[in-house]
Amino acid sequence: MATQKMLKFVTVGKEMPEKRDASSRAQDFHEIYREYADRKAAEQSSRCSQCGVPYCQSHCPLHNNIPDWLKLTAEGRLQEAYELSQATNTFPEICGRICPQDRLCEGNCVIEQSGHGTVTIGSVEKYITDTAWEEGWVKPIRPHRERPESVGIIGAGPGGLAAADMLRRQGVQVTVYDRYDRAGGLMTYGIPGFKLEKDVVERRNAQLAEGGVTFVLNCSVGEDITFDAIRGQHDAVLIATGVYKARDIEAPGVGARGIVKAVDYLTASNRKGFGDEVAAFDSGELDASGKRVVVIGGGDTAMDCVRTAIRQGALSVKCLYRRDRANMPGSQREVANAEEEGVEFVWLSAPKGFTGGVDVDGVMVQRMRLGAPDATGRQSPEIIEGADYLEPADLVVQALGFEPEALPTLWGVPELKVTRWGTIKADFRTHETSLPGVYAAGDIVRGASLVVWAIRDGREAAEAILGYLNQTGAVAAE
Ligand SMILES: Cc1cc2nc3c(=O)[nH]c(=O)nc-3n(C[C@H](O)[C@H](O)[C@H](O)COP(=O)(O)OP(=O)(O)OC[C@H]3O[C@@H](n4cnc5c(N)ncnc54)[C@H](O)[C@@H]3O)c2cc1C
Ligand code: SF4
Repeated sequence: MATQKMLKFVTVGKEMPEKRDASSRAQDFHEIYREYADRKAAEQSSRCSQCGVPYCQSHCPLHNNIPDWLKLTAEGRLQEAYELSQATNTFPEICGRICPQDRLCEGNCVIEQSGHGTVTIGSVEKYITDTAWEEGWVKPIRPHRERPESVGIIGAGPGGLAAADMLRRQGVQVTVYDRYDRAGGLMTYGIPGFKLEKDVVERRNAQLAEGGVTFVLNCSVGEDITFDAIRGQHDAVLIATGVYKARDIEAPGVGARGIVKAVDYLTASNRKGFGDEVAAFDSGELDASGKRVVVIGGGDTAMDCVRTAIRQGALSVKCLYRRDRANMPGSQREVANAEEEGVEFVWLSAPKGFTGGVDVDGVMVQRMRLGAPDATGRQSPEIIEGADYLEPADLVVQALGFEPEALPTLWGVPELKVTRWGTIKADFRTHETSLPGVYAAGDIVRGASLVVWAIRDGREAAEAILGYLNQTGAVAAE
């Protein structure tokens, strides 16, 4: 029987190349994939026990009505599932792909907690909205009536775009300013394409542009236009600029060539994915191919760097982190993925310095152990004296996290209040800042966080802005 199957396969394989072109083979692949995805989504959705205590929903920052859209999917009522899912989430197919579900919805699924493996909520969410795009259920933005008020949004990341979407649907005139040449923020230039395909982000950008959102790209507020000018041009302003100031390592030799910042490394890789010319990549500076790569950091950005380096054909990839596996900030799922792909994690280790001359050729590594808990209850890493060793490296990527830029200084608005960490002070529900009519959302308020939180903030800020416009419009009309 096995031989017959094999023979049949060989015969079919022989006939195929002459008769079928690449597009029909791609079509076949697409159909097989669809069938598989349909089956998987139905299987997973029907695993939901409709437990009545939807911890998954309460642990989703958007409080998505997960049990109900799982039920509709299990019953094959996909369009209704889509309608329900998009009612609370502006970009469900994006969250389905890149939320750390193990820390949010799926980590709190009662089936997971009873030891039977979570319902794969994220992949069902992705499946529902991908299907909606394919079937034409995702409708263009067409407001019932146009409103005269305009809102300026600074930053085209998920926070800014979620707000733009909500405001535009209500007929508000929306202009989004961004210093990059493409919209999407870190969804476009930070998160690698193997986690979030760029056409998925681009079709959302296109949907917003087609729905009447004006994008002013390559426009850095504070350089190409002043913040005051933006305030003068709009009835309300939303600041959603994210956090981009990389935390640097302070150690001897850190200025050597070959020691780079995570954001530069990932942006270059994403730009190459778009087919852009990137001088620093083409010269080899930001290309890991054939190199011994060391990534320093234990968060999700570090995980993206190690997995990108593997894909670029690095000779070896090691990740140094000063605490242990249990105490790292990044997702355990991402660590497992990276390990499967060949990344070596060197726990309890930190850089003491870098060797080489003009070009780095190694990292002097200090071994650490976990000591007494600090004020937050987290065990502090301590140096083990005399245990240093040299780790050879041709490319070192610093992935120690990000801080906000000093916006009040850069933009010349000292009245814009910030916290002691430099994030913008904003009301946690309305997102209004210390400046009337100016709101803030996403990482610039929370510090480095997640796409799903930025979406939530953007949606909430849009609602508050609508309230403000209604109020000030009514006052102006009196
Ligand atoms: C490498 C990496 C991987 C990540 N992976 C994940 C993940 O898998 N899942 C997840 O949920 N989250 C992930 N995150 C976090 C997530 O991307 C952010 O929390 C989210 O994008 C924040 O959204 P935002 O809208 O606040 O800011 P951003 O996405 O940072 O967008 C801000 C935008 O503002 C623009 N801007 C900044 N200053 C100015 C200015 N002066 N003038 C004009 N424009 C300006 C920027 O160009 C940018 O486009 C990752 C982050 C990084 C760095
Ligand atoms: S938005 Fe994120 S946390 Fe919420 S259901 Fe989707 S994947 Fe889970």
